[in-house]
Amino acid sequence: MVTVFRAPRLLTHADAPLVDDGAVVVDGERIVAAGAWSEIEVPAPAQVRELDDVTLLPGLVDAHVHLAMDAEPTSTGTDLSRPDAELALVMAQSARRLLDAGVTTARDLGCPGTLSVAVRDAIAARRIPGPRMLVANAPITVTGGHAWAMGGEADTAEDVVRQVRLRAKEGADLVKIMTTGGFMTAGSRPWHARYTVEHLSAGVDEAHRLGMRVTTHALGVEGIARAVAAGVDSIEHCAWLTETGSRFDPAVAARMVAAGIAVCPTMNTACLPEPYFCPWDSRAAVLDNLRAMHAAGLEIIAGTDAGIGMVPFQRYADGLDILGEAGMSPRQVLAAATAKAARACGLASVTGTLAPGMAADVLAVPGDPTEDLSVLHRPLFVLARGDEHACAPAGEPTGDAATAERIRATLTAGAGRA
Ligand SMILES: [Zn+2]
Repeated sequence: MVTVFRAPRLLTHADAPLVDDGAVVVDGERIVAAGAWSEIEVPAPAQVRELDDVTLLPGLVDAHVHLAMDAEPTSTGTDLSRPDAELALVMAQSARRLLDAGVTTARDLGCPGTLSVAVRDAIAARRIPGPRMLVANAPITVTGGHAWAMGGEADTAEDVVRQVRLRAKEGADLVKIMTTGGFMTAGSRPWHARYTVEHLSAGVDEAHRLGMRVTTHALGVEGIARAVAAGVDSIEHCAWLTETGSRFDPAVAARMVAAGIAVCPTMNTACLPEPYFCPWDSRAAVLDNLRAMHAAGLEIIAGTDAGIGMVPFQRYADGLDILGEAGMSPRQVLAAATAKAARACGLASVTGTLAPGMAADVLAVPGDPTEDLSVLHRPLFVLARGDEHACAPAGEPTGDAATAERIRATLTAGAGRA
């Protein structure tokens, strides 16, 4: 059955002019036409859905989630020992909440074992609702390093290559490697680089040979520089940390621009002004780093780290607000959340824009997001590969003060400052 969604406003691409009285024609899981109502051909038979005060735009991309975490103050070092059956149910719930936020594609960048492969495949087969998933399974990390409990420990170049091959064998879509420590794993020292360039290059080269992209968790300047030298495809967090605070490095940033390395700064609910508990630095310093990266011309893509403590999946739009606060225009933010993120995921020909042949990943929001990003907090419905999902309200941004305090304590311990 062909369905035509007709709306007062249509944004086919983050950079395209807004079309008044637009329509998207969907046949099954694909778009067959998108443009001005007066210019599209409506095939017969077709159901026409007339929408009031709605903008249709491409479904959103969250380039960094952890479906197996449920936004409790979990420590990635210790708390992933729940039975697989329990984790699988959490993951199904998390996937549904991403749809509530209008997210139609997400990358799971850290999960124990092969659970995320099973969840990805269940969504793809339409056994459970959720966004298209790309999964990394267990991140590769040094012994005792960030998120070691997920099972990807590797210390030598041979170990790293072996882990990459295991990810390919498991059916992962991409590889994640922990170039620095992380705040959520006590003792892992976020600003310290944990692999040499040679170790990283061995992994990156093997992943690329196997047709997998490589993204890296990199908080510290030294780790970022090594990851860039090793040829990773994208960098998560990119917080420019040193032991004494953050320090943006324009020379490293210039190399990233030249190499086309995307940055997913993982802005999220924790980075809102109140209660701010992003552990990287003061809020002003975090925003300054974002401004510096944007001004340097880095390819910034949207991703939230949803699933970590008090960063709920359904509050994806909080991270977009912060990109806007750091000086990106609404259209630049929309591009980071759609076409640019899709490109960084290797999905530029699949999703991120509304055009014939693309997946029917379509978001309906009230108002005009090119003028006011806040409308993304109130998505009405989303089509994910043509399947319609009514978006449930996101709820309040944060939990109680006691929970915030527990998370702060976890992050402080992770930073080695306990
Ligand atoms: Zn993460």
